[in-house]
Amino acid sequence: MEKKVTYCRICEGSCGFLAEVENNRIIKYYPDKEHLVSQGYSCIKGRKTIEMQYDPKRLKVPLKRNENSFESISWERAINEISAKLLEIKSKYGQNSIGLYFGNPTAFSYSASVYSVAFMKFLGSRNLYSAGSQDCNNKFAHSRRFYGSPLIIIVPDFDKIDYLMALGTNPIASHFSFVVFPRPLQRLKEMEKRGCKIVWINPRRTETAKQIGEHVFIRPNTDIYLLFGMINYILENKLEDRDFIEKYSKGIENLRKVAKEFGGDLPRIAKITGIPKEIIIKMVKDFITASKRGGASVYGRAGTDRGSFATLLAWAKDVFNFITGNIDQKGNFYSYGLIDAVSLAKIGGIGGAKKSEFPKSGSRIGNFPSVLGTYPAATMADEILTPGDGQIKAMIVMAGDPLVSCPNTKRLEKAFNNLDLLVSIDLFLNDTGLLAHYVLPSTTFLERDDLTLTTSSFNPIPFANYSEVIVHPDGDQKPEWEIFNLLGAKMGFATLGGPPLEVFKATLSREDKKKIKELVNSGKGIFLTAEKQIRYNTLLPARIQHPDKLIDLVPADYSTEFEKLRQWKGPETKQFPFSLISGREINTINSWLHAEGETNYCRINSEDAKLLGIEDYQPIRVVSPINSIEIPVLITPDLMQGVIWIPHGWGGIHRTLQNPPELAAEKRGINVNLITDDHWEHLETFAGMVLLDGIPVKLEKI
Ligand code: SF4
Repeated sequence: MEKKVTYCRICEGSCGFLAEVENNRIIKYYPDKEHLVSQGYSCIKGRKTIEMQYDPKRLKVPLKRNENSFESISWERAINEISAKLLEIKSKYGQNSIGLYFGNPTAFSYSASVYSVAFMKFLGSRNLYSAGSQDCNNKFAHSRRFYGSPLIIIVPDFDKIDYLMALGTNPIASHFSFVVFPRPLQRLKEMEKRGCKIVWINPRRTETAKQIGEHVFIRPNTDIYLLFGMINYILENKLEDRDFIEKYSKGIENLRKVAKEFGGDLPRIAKITGIPKEIIIKMVKDFITASKRGGASVYGRAGTDRGSFATLLAWAKDVFNFITGNIDQKGNFYSYGLIDAVSLAKIGGIGGAKKSEFPKSGSRIGNFPSVLGTYPAATMADEILTPGDGQIKAMIVMAGDPLVSCPNTKRLEKAFNNLDLLVSIDLFLNDTGLLAHYVLPSTTFLERDDLTLTTSSFNPIPFANYSEVIVHPDGDQKPEWEIFNLLGAKMGFATLGGPPLEVFKATLSREDKKKIKELVNSGKGIFLTAEKQIRYNTLLPARIQHPDKLIDLVPADYSTEFEKLRQWKGPETKQFPFSLISGREINTINSWLHAEGETNYCRINSEDAKLLGIEDYQPIRVVSPINSIEIPVLITPDLMQGVIWIPHGWGGIHRTLQNPPELAAEKRGINVNLITDDHWEHLETFAGMVLLDGIPVKLEKI
C-alpha cells in the first residue's frame, strides 16, 4: 500500500488529502492533518470524493446517441466522427459556428483550461462560454477597469482585520469562494475571539450567520444602493483616508458626485434595502473605527455577483475598501500568487488596460464584451437559435451541465436540440449529455496532475498545492487535454502536444518556471513568500496596469451603468410580489456533485407561509415571468419576509424522460433554472451576469 499526498479540487478550499493506494485503487482517502493550510479539515463534499471516483455510473467509454439510446464506441471512432462533423460544420458555416462551454470544475484544472482555450484559438472560433457569467465574471470585468487587469483581485486579510462586512456569502457552504478558506467555522471563531466584528448582510440568515457574528437582512438585489449610501456617508462626513486617495487615485470629485446622486438619501436607501438608516450609519462608523486599528474589509460573494448591477457592485465594494485606505496596506491584500497571471492574460489578449486592448466587437447577440475571453452563457440559446452569420451549429460542453446551471432550461434545451452536433465531455451522463450526440468520458482530479494555478493568489496564507496523478483511470477515460489534442490533430490543426506541465511551463518567465519546479519537486505544496505570510505594498502603485499607475475611481464607461441605475425601477412587485434567491447548499456543489435527499425545497418565511396558508412539505407553484415550477416548501424564520430561497443544482430534464438510460446520472428535485431569465436584454451589461438573486415571482397554492 502506498500513501500519496494530494488535494481536493472541488472548490477553492484546496484542502489537503491523503490517498492510500493499492493496485491502482484508492483504498482510503482522508483529510491530511499535516497540510499547512487545511490542517486536517475537509467538508462533506471533499469526503464524498471517493463515492464520485468509484460511482458505478461513471462513464468508462465514449458513447454515441442513436435515437433514444446510447451505444459504446471506441475512441478512434468517436474522434474520427466528431472531427469530421466539426470540419463539415466549419466549412459550411464558418469557424464561429463551433462553440465551447466549460463548467466550474475547469477552474481547478490547469490542463483542461489551457488546452480547451487553445483548441478554440486553433479552430479560430470566438464562441467560448463558461460558468463565470453565472457567478464571477463581473469581478474580472470590474478589476480590468479599476486596476487595469481582470486578474488583480483583492482578498480580505482575515487574520488581521478588526471588522468584516460580508455580503451575499455563506462560508460554511462555499468557504467564501474566491478565497482559499478551509476550516471556515474555526477560523471565523478565531477572528471573533481576537476582537474582529463580523456582520453578515444577506436576505437569508445563513448557517454561518446563525453561529457567528451579527446578521442584517437586506432585500435581494439592492446591495448597490446600500454601498452607495455608505460611500456617500463616508465622503460627506469626511471619514475617508484623504492621503491614501490622493496618492493612489484620481477622480475623487466624480465619485463624490455619483455617491451623492445615488447614496445621498439615506431614508430612501433604508426603504429600498430594508435596513434602517441608524444601522447603516452604525455599520459605517464601526468600519471606520476598525480601519484605524487593524483594518477592515467589505467582501461580497455570489449573492452580490448575480444581480442587475453586478459589475457596478464589484466596483462599489472595492471603492468602499479603497477610500477607507483598506487596500494593499491593511484590510485587503493583493497577492501575485503562483505565476504572473496578470502578464500572461495581457499577452493572451484578454487582460490589457488600454481601450485598444479591449475587444473591438462584442458578442453577436447583445454585443456583450468578452470577459477573460468568454461570452455570457445566458446568450448561448440565442446564439444557437438566431439564424445568420456566426450562428452556432455545434457545441462542445466540458465539465458542465448548462441545462441545470444556466438560466431558462427549456429554451436552452430547445437550442441544444437544434444543434447539428453536441458533444459532452464529462465524468457522468448528465442532463446535457442526454441530449448530446457524443459523450466522452473524462478523468477525475485524482487521475491527473495539478497545481493551484487559479486560486493561489486568493489564499490569505500564501501557499500553492501540487498533486501528482494518484491513480490511473480504471476504464477508457481520458484527460480533457488529451481529448483536445486528439480532436485538433485529426482536424489538421496545430495542437499543444504534451505533457501539459512542460507545455505550460514553456509560457512562463524564468522566475515562475523555477517556482513551478520547486512546487513539483515538493510533491505536495510550497509557501510562496519566504516569511510564510502575505505581503502588503505589492499592488499600489507599481502593479496597477494603467499607464499613469493611478486608479480612476469612476471609470468613464460606467456612465452607462449609472444611467441604467437612474432608470431602474426595481422588480415588478404588483404582479410578482416575492423575490426568489438561489444558492448552494452545504452538501452540494452547483450542478456537479449529487445532492443527498429526495428533493430540494422552497424555503419561505414563517409569516409569509401563515398568510398564504401553507404548511411544511406542501407543494407550491412558483411562477416567474418565464415559467413556473412546483416544489415542496419548508417554513423558516431565517428568511426575510417577501423572499423565498430555492437551492440550485437539483433536478433536470431526464426526470421527464420515460426511460432514462441506465447510465444517466441520478438526479432528484426541482431545477430552479426552469424559471430564471436568459433574455439578453435583461442581463447585466458589462459581464452579462444573470439575475439569479432577486428574481420576481408569485406563489400559488396548489
Ligand atoms: S472545502 Fe472545498 S476543497 Fe475543501 S474538502 Fe470541501 S470541497 Fe474540497
